[in-house]
Amino acid sequence: MIGGRPLPFPVPDWPQPVLKAIAVLEGKGYECYAVGGCVRDAALGETPHDWDLTTSALPEEISAAFSGLSQNLAGAKHGTVGVLVDGQMLEMTTYRVDGSYTDSRHPDGVAFTRSLKEDLARRDFTINAMALHPEKRLFDPYGGIDDLQNGILRAVGDPMRRMQEDALRILRGLRFMSRLRFHPDEATEAAFFQCAPLLQKISNERVYVELTGLLMGAGVREVLTRYSEVIGTVLPEILPCCGFDQYTRYHLYDVWGHTAAAVEAVRPEPLLRWVMLLHDIGKPGRFIPDEAGVGHFKGHAALSAAMAERILRRMTMPAKMIKDAIPLIRWHDAKVTADPVSIRRWMAMLGEEQLLRLLEVKRADNLAQNRAVSDRQPEIAEITEQTMAVIAEHPCLTLGELAVGGKDLAKLGIKNGPELGRILNLLLDRVIGGDLPNDRETLMDEAEKLLTRFAGC
Ligand code: ATP
Ligand code: MG
Repeated sequence: MIGGRPLPFPVPDWPQPVLKAIAVLEGKGYECYAVGGCVRDAALGETPHDWDLTTSALPEEISAAFSGLSQNLAGAKHGTVGVLVDGQMLEMTTYRVDGSYTDSRHPDGVAFTRSLKEDLARRDFTINAMALHPEKRLFDPYGGIDDLQNGILRAVGDPMRRMQEDALRILRGLRFMSRLRFHPDEATEAAFFQCAPLLQKISNERVYVELTGLLMGAGVREVLTRYSEVIGTVLPEILPCCGFDQYTRYHLYDVWGHTAAAVEAVRPEPLLRWVMLLHDIGKPGRFIPDEAGVGHFKGHAALSAAMAERILRRMTMPAKMIKDAIPLIRWHDAKVTADPVSIRRWMAMLGEEQLLRLLEVKRADNLAQNRAVSDRQPEIAEITEQTMAVIAEHPCLTLGELAVGGKDLAKLGIKNGPELGRILNLLLDRVIGGDLPNDRETLMDEAEKLLTRFAGC
């Protein structure tokens, strides 16, 4: 039965397969609605990235209604059936009430219900507890639209009980606050803080996904600053940074305040945001004040890189991303200058893409410092421009790109072995350094000279 109230926001563009699935289930006498994130995003005027459906049909009834279509029944026990409708995989979940929770993560059991209102009651936040019907009706029994319009994140029901049931909701909450720039109501926020220790029971995989989402949000700085204590339950390494005065005029904020500002300042891309989050994590461990009381942090980049590697492995970041993240942290405060030789040397060491990322890291790091004392923005912009110019020249940066190879040197009588490698590397170094052109004849001459010099040693 379709009830609810008229839509208080423009009608979203319903994907055709979603309309079809709803029509099929309704044709068999069941109820079916779009629910959760897609309703929230549609109400915000955004295009939903996936459409979840909720239905009064039991899993076997969903399956029977779509017999003949490709189905994923892996989640049927919990009420979710995936059906490939006109090329789109749709998840349809039976109205559900969760049983009791004993592990702060999974319900001990689920029970199906024929009541939409009961299903919406188990959802985490009011803005995620709305259902939408194509005939322009909205079901919003917990005040989701009001909260959405007021920018409020509110747990459905008693916040303490809801966070105790499933502590992942705390991180989901922080993610939504960061993404939407919402604020929690008082009771929900209190529950976030009080239940934060339960986050230690959540798998690192889930934590990583939620933290990455949090880092990507426009409101990341405020969330990192205000909820450092909550985030510290899953990333305890950040805690010494919080309130750690840097005792230097180059900085306006403590280490964590600088970190939060630097995360916000970098392009929202998971790798870069994680790098900024961890780039100074080793600072408290490398603090040495001089006689004048000014703070120095010699060696902090190396320590940050070592700590970040352990943290990111634990967080289950993909290996390729870790491999890229570590050098960016390691060299975040290393000197890069705008001259082509310096740029080519960095490019030979890191690769083009990584050098461009390093410059983004440096830019964000400086944006989060005291720019009245040190504004490096014009300099970094110039280095970036020069780097683009060097890239456009396709310089020789590897042995493979050198105009001579092992076979050429063999003609000079140099045998395969350490000497050959040494000469090739010296030639490459001189080409990168701009002392020699990458030209076969010149390099053969130089190789011969080097050979005579070595023979004389
Ligand atoms: P996103 O845009 O990130 O997909 P979402 O709200 O759709 O956000 P999903 O993980 O896809 O998040 O979950 C779909 C819906 O399921 C949510 O909107 C919410 O109603 C419900 N939900 C998801 N996770 C939980 C949870 N841990 N506790 C309670 N309800 C949840
Ligand atoms: Mg979703």
